[in-house]
Parts: sequence; C-alpha cells; structure tokens
Amino acid sequence: MGDVTVIGLGAMGTALARAFLSAGKTTVVWNRTSAKADVLRDEGAKVALTAADAVAASPVIVMCLSDYAATRGIVEDKAVAGIFAGRLVVQLASGTSSEARAMAAWAATRGADYLDGAISAWPSQIGGADAAILLAGPETTFASASALLQALAGSLVHVGPDVGHAKALFGAALAYYAAHWIGFSHGAVICEAEGLDPAQFGEMMAGSAPFFADDMRRMGRVIATGSFSAPESTIASVRADIARLVDVSDNLEIGADFPTFATGVFQRAVDAGYGAEEHCAITKVLRSPAPHQRRPVQGRSV
Ligand code: NAP
Repeated sequence: MGDVTVIGLGAMGTALARAFLSAGKTTVVWNRTSAKADVLRDEGAKVALTAADAVAASPVIVMCLSDYAATRGIVEDKAVAGIFAGRLVVQLASGTSSEARAMAAWAATRGADYLDGAISAWPSQIGGADAAILLAGPETTFASASALLQALAGSLVHVGPDVGHAKALFGAALAYYAAHWIGFSHGAVICEAEGLDPAQFGEMMAGSAPFFADDMRRMGRVIATGSFSAPESTIASVRADIARLVDVSDNLEIGADFPTFATGVFQRAVDAGYGAEEHCAITKVLRSPAPHQRRPVQGRSV
C-alpha cells in the first residue's frame, strides 16, 4: 500500500512524485507511456503496471495529466472507475472551473472525496518554498489531506469549498499575467526601437513593484465596492494615453497589436458612458462579452 499515487508523469507529475518521495512518502506512480516511470523507480517509487493497480494502491490519488479530457479518459475506464470509492482524488491538471465542478460531480457518483487544484510553480520549484498550490473543495477534505500535500508546495492554500474556485482564481491570475507578459514585451520592443536596453527597462519596472502591489489591492477594493466615482485617473484619460501608444508604435514601425486591443476595451467603456469613472470601471463592459466574442460554454457535462 502506498501513501499516495501519482498518475501522469509528464514534467509536472514527475516533479510531484519526486516531492512526495523526498518527503519520505511511499509513492506509487503510473503513466500511459511506461518508460517515463523508470527514473522514478530508480528513485524509490513503486511503479504500478496499470492505472487500476495505481488507484487501488493508495488512499490518495494525485492526477496530473495534460487536461481534464485526458484525466477523465483514465478514471472513467471501466477497469478503473469502480475502485475510487473511499479514496481522495486530487486533480491538478489545468482547466476551467466548469470542468472542475463536473469532475467533482463524477467523483461523488463514485463515492470518492475530491479536491481540485491549480499549480502556480514550475516543475523545478515543486516541493520548495516558492511553489504555490491552490486547492478547492470541502474544508474537512482539505484538512485531512493537507499534511500529505504540504510536501508539494511551500504555500498550500485552501480557497474554499466550491471545487471550481481554484481554477477560477488561477484563470483570474492568468488574465493578469497575459496582460503583464504582452505589455512588458511591447515596452521592451519600444526600448529596442529607441536604442534603450530592455534589461534597463526590466530593472526600472521591477522597482515599480510596490506601486503595482498597492494598485492591485486598491483596484480589488474599488471593484468590490463599486465605488468608481472618485477616480485617480479616468477611463477617458487612460483611453487617450493608450491611443497615443498606437501612434508611438506606428511611428516606430513596430507592432501595435496590444495598444490597439487595449484602446478598444477602453473605447467600449467610453461608448457605454463610463468615461468619467475610475479606470477599473472597465469591468462594467468586461462583464458582458462583446457580440463578436460569444462562444459556446464548454465542460458543463458530468
Ligand atoms: P506534459 O509534460 O506534457 O505531460 C502530460 C502528461 O499527461 C503525460 O503524463 C502524458 O502521458 C499525460 N497524458 C496526456 N494525454 C493523455 C491521455 N489521453 N491519456 C493518458 N495520459 C495522457 O505536461 P506537464 O507539464 O506535466 O503538465 C501537466 C499539467 O500540469 C497540465 O495541465 C499543465 O497545464 C499543468 N501545469 C504544468 C506546469 C509546468 O510548468 N509544466 C505548471 C503548472 C501547471 P504520456 O507521457 O503517455 O504522453
């Protein structure tokens, strides 16, 4: 019998299994491509021959495949599905809150406990102080598993009983990162075109980190309370500044993808009559998709 089973031995699953082994946990592993388990066998893992053997071997099953579709392909196999009763499934593949809730509903039909998680770390950080894992699900389930799962991350955060909330928060953070990555890269391209060193720009922006931390806390409070009428800067003025960035980009003959997109968002808010409000009042237009953005919702089925 193992303390824990890890299913899915890609870059992340291998790191998770290694962290359990380093913490002295009896670790059972399984991967579709069995050769990936060899290195972990040499490090002390017990390698299951089948997914069913892997699930049967431990009370806690940590799953880290590419996505929910791959995960469900494994757990719903009829040789496997009947073995989950009384076990805890910890699902760490990336996905959406809807997929997480659907998977929790599936686990309930199998008599399994369920936690859904989002990993905020590179594989090399797993097991260390810099790794963070958000986990969602019943408080009692989290409490019973946290001593084991602390082997994976210095920061193990229970985000609440709604199993969709780890993926929801991860998605919210990813929205921020996406703008951060594109915005920084666009700034670096401006620097290059102006003969400035992007490394100098990186240092300058790093020095602004405390400002951005304060600004994020402030925006969160302002959006939560809906108090947009005492602006530090308005939607109209931010729109004008970013529209100017389109001109700057055109003049430098560099791509204007990001400022064009960003101007469009602020323009939508101006057109809706929010020009005099605090810049983060763009949430009022972002709450509804623009007509051309409507897409079918995925991952709702159980
Ligand atoms: P990866 O290296 O590409 O590994 C994917 C794993 O999924 C492999 O074990 C693969 O098995 C398995 N798999 C894929 N499709 C399958 C299927 N249909 N049936 C059975 N097994 C299947 O990916 P990873 O980097 O380990 O990432 C795993 C999850 O962690 C992803 O959801 C990813 O978004 C998340 N994550 C990764 C990182 C990161 O930095 N790597 C960070 C945060 C979160 P085979 O070996 O047989 O192909």
